[in-house]
Amino acid sequence: MSSYDVIVIGAGPGGYVSAIRCAQLGMKVAVVEGRETLGGTCLNVGCIPSKALLHATHMLHEAEHNFAEMGLKGKAPSVDWKQMISYKEKTVGQNTGGIEFLFKKNKIDWLKGWGSIPEAGKVKVGDDVYDAKNIIIASGSEASVLPGIEVDEKTVVTSTGALTLPKVPKSLVVIGAGVIGLELGSVYARLGAEVTVIEYLDAITPGMDAEIARQFQKMLTKQGLKFTLGAAVQGVEVKNNKATVSYVVRKDESEHTITADTVLVATGRKPYTTGLGLDALGVALTERGQIKTDASYATNVPGIYAIGDTIEGPMLAHKAEDEGMAVAEVIAGQKPHVNYGVIPGVIYTHPEVSNVGETEETLKAAGRAYKVGKFPFLGNARAKANFAGDGFVKLLVDAQTDRILGAHIIGPMAGDLIHEICVAMEFGAAAEDIARTCHAHPTYSEAVREAALACGDGAIHV
Ligand SMILES: Cc1cc2nc3c(=O)[nH]c(=O)nc-3n(C[C@H](O)[C@H](O)[C@H](O)COP(=O)(O)OP(=O)(O)OC[C@H]3O[C@@H](n4cnc5c(N)ncnc54)[C@H](O)[C@@H]3O)c2cc1C
Repeated sequence: MSSYDVIVIGAGPGGYVSAIRCAQLGMKVAVVEGRETLGGTCLNVGCIPSKALLHATHMLHEAEHNFAEMGLKGKAPSVDWKQMISYKEKTVGQNTGGIEFLFKKNKIDWLKGWGSIPEAGKVKVGDDVYDAKNIIIASGSEASVLPGIEVDEKTVVTSTGALTLPKVPKSLVVIGAGVIGLELGSVYARLGAEVTVIEYLDAITPGMDAEIARQFQKMLTKQGLKFTLGAAVQGVEVKNNKATVSYVVRKDESEHTITADTVLVATGRKPYTTGLGLDALGVALTERGQIKTDASYATNVPGIYAIGDTIEGPMLAHKAEDEGMAVAEVIAGQKPHVNYGVIPGVIYTHPEVSNVGETEETLKAAGRAYKVGKFPFLGNARAKANFAGDGFVKLLVDAQTDRILGAHIIGPMAGDLIHEICVAMEFGAAAEDIARTCHAHPTYSEAVREAALACGDGAIHV
């Protein structure tokens, strides 16, 4: 029987990052993973494959809509779906293989199989039981499906099925207007599917700054997505390979149906802790099934920690990674800190949407005095040249101190631009700090600076 300083259960972004950090800090580490490949949801069936399809279909969109204007003449490319899927799978393979390489480099043992915790200090994989001074649960999450809906991953699919459809559907209904639904809805809309998004709430992307959400919905509508908001889905019936979704429009309680080739259920995710044996161990959970931890990621059972999608907080790969590093440092006796006020969120549609910190709605609810600095990409030379003038940067700053409280970007490379503001927020910067920093011309980043200028005496290029 082998013994380890740390055994991590799950090799997603939380688990593999914590294992690498533990190894770097001199610990003997193993990771239990039941999938055939490392990298968890994110690399196998989440962040990476979805971004590959978003990239490929964005290229198609550019070829169809903007090439001729730039003098790039010729027929727009036709879609070879099999090849697109194989490109996506190759991308996944390169990334998951990369984690295997990092495990070897850091001398991390991969215990292949599904793990459980028969008692504190022990991890069972198949018939083998291993000793572990510390156990980190990083078993991630699974799709949360509405009651009354049966997923067959053929006609009614979760995101996992939506990433491997045998062909592009003529029509797609997406249930849920959150990040995953809109990203995958965009992919299929660009491929020519008629996409209808049904959402229970009256706005898309719940929790997002409302002004950005409205603008985002307008842009997606222009791209051909249809929205039915304020509608409660009652069920999905499959007949002759078609799915009929029944829903009630909440404001007048009228009943409706819509039939499509494929239905994507994108109504959120829930922690996956099945088979770990948490009940018998007495590990405390929240009402939503998340593992309860303290600020050091310790559960109520000594020697057992939990991170990533299994615990509270946004279900994001980078949040899981930060917790993975932090828990390793906790076990090594260090005093790490994850700043939950500065975790960016990104939607990788076109244009991208990103956010960090407070929204106008959360600031109003807290009764805080704030100022808004905005700058449209139409005033940004680079964006105009690149057909990317739609959207804007919005900074929210403290009315008295000018300290940055939140930022919201809809526009080109929004997912990258947000990090300048994240760093500024980590340092407790004011908008003026960004405004006085020289930004190279012509870059999209100038729009961030202009929004910072707009918090003071005014932006220049509007
Ligand atoms: C379609 C989609 C797109 C997404 N896009 C993004 C994005 O662009 N950016 C972003 O930040 N986030 C994105 N996410 C969310 C992101 O994938 C998750 O937040 C992230 O993967 C969580 O990491 P984790 O390490 O907590 O768990 P996971 O990545 O879920 O990994 C958990 C691993 O544990 C394994 N496991 C579970 N139980 C056991 C057991 N008992 N024994 C052995 N192994 C076990 C599982 O097989 C899995 O591999 C996306 C998710 C989806 C579904």
